Amino acid sequence: MTSLSRLDTFHNEFVCFVKATAEDGAVGWGQTSSYNADITAAVFHRQIAPWALGQPVGDIAALVNRIERAEHKYPGSYRSRALAGLDTALWDMAGRRAGLPVTALIGGSAGALRAYASSMLRDITPEAEAERLKRICGEQGFTAAKFRIGAECGQDVDQWPGRTEAVIPAVTQALAGIDTLADANSGFSVARAVQVGRMLQDHGVGHYEEPVAWWDLEATQAVTQALEIDVAGGEQECDLATWKRLIAMRAVDVVQPDVMYLGGLSNTLKVAGWAAQAGLPCTPHAANLGLVTLCTMHLMRALPNAGKYLEFSIEGDDYYPWQRELFLGDPYAVTDGQLHVSEAPGWGVEVNPAWLERAEHRASVFGEDAGSDYARLYNATIAKGL
Ligand SMILES: [Mg+2]
Repeated sequence: MTSLSRLDTFHNEFVCFVKATAEDGAVGWGQTSSYNADITAAVFHRQIAPWALGQPVGDIAALVNRIERAEHKYPGSYRSRALAGLDTALWDMAGRRAGLPVTALIGGSAGALRAYASSMLRDITPEAEAERLKRICGEQGFTAAKFRIGAECGQDVDQWPGRTEAVIPAVTQALAGIDTLADANSGFSVARAVQVGRMLQDHGVGHYEEPVAWWDLEATQAVTQALEIDVAGGEQECDLATWKRLIAMRAVDVVQPDVMYLGGLSNTLKVAGWAAQAGLPCTPHAANLGLVTLCTMHLMRALPNAGKYLEFSIEGDDYYPWQRELFLGDPYAVTDGQLHVSEAPGWGVEVNPAWLERAEHRASVFGEDAGSDYARLYNATIAKGL
């Protein structure tokens, strides 16, 4: 099996694309998780690339696991965000090599996916949000939509007094016949979360996301046990051992791994598999139109326990100016409330050369001064079988 000879990154503050090149000339494109992408690119070249270069590209999950072990003193978000760049580039390379979309490599197929219109806004009045979601669902055919309640990590202090109590009836009445989801972004205490959850149930909302501090699994479990509505969560969690515990204790009814926060497709497949064994659906988190939503589409087309819908951000350039012109063509065209995974190989997109032209470029090359002395020593030791 051919090995990895070169890793190039192209970044600005928000996005970092990764180009992986193998010894035989095969190429794949991936992306690290968005935001602080300049920091993530530095982590990528210091802590990911040295362990990956010279390694076989055939078993992506094994390579990811190897890097996690080599960098075991640095668990957590940035290691995972950077690893996602390597993992997603190697999956793209595998797809391009096979002439298949990534979804076909993991048991799925090209085709349509039901999406929900995901609002990211809280600084919008309940009336304006109800009107906006109704219009967007009407125009684009969405049959499900998510709105925001509470305040992000708000400790029971609402975005402004009474907003939560007002937005729940306003949106659910405006969206009669459309499935509704609500996201609290860790906004509530257990007591307040249960109170709001009952309000959501009474208004027919079907999905209640991150009701309490996401890192407090026991508090999340308490809310899940107290309510009928499906409690969903897990988007921030990048630690596989914690994922196992979260699923074993059934802290949520619906798991929501984020392909990029979790280190890539390989780790997300593990979490989705554990959830399937526990009988839990997987509705991944995908909050912007960088590569994460496309990777999530390929994943969902393959999961036996895929949730009811794909998260699809409805926010435009004013909220996400950095999303502009990342790709050639539009992988995110919506038809009748659905998105489509194409038959094109890999992730099925090309990064826009004009965007790459404007980005900061770095390269780590096998055999050149790629990585730390520690990495070289470790790799030499492994190669000798010591
Ligand atoms: Mg969320």
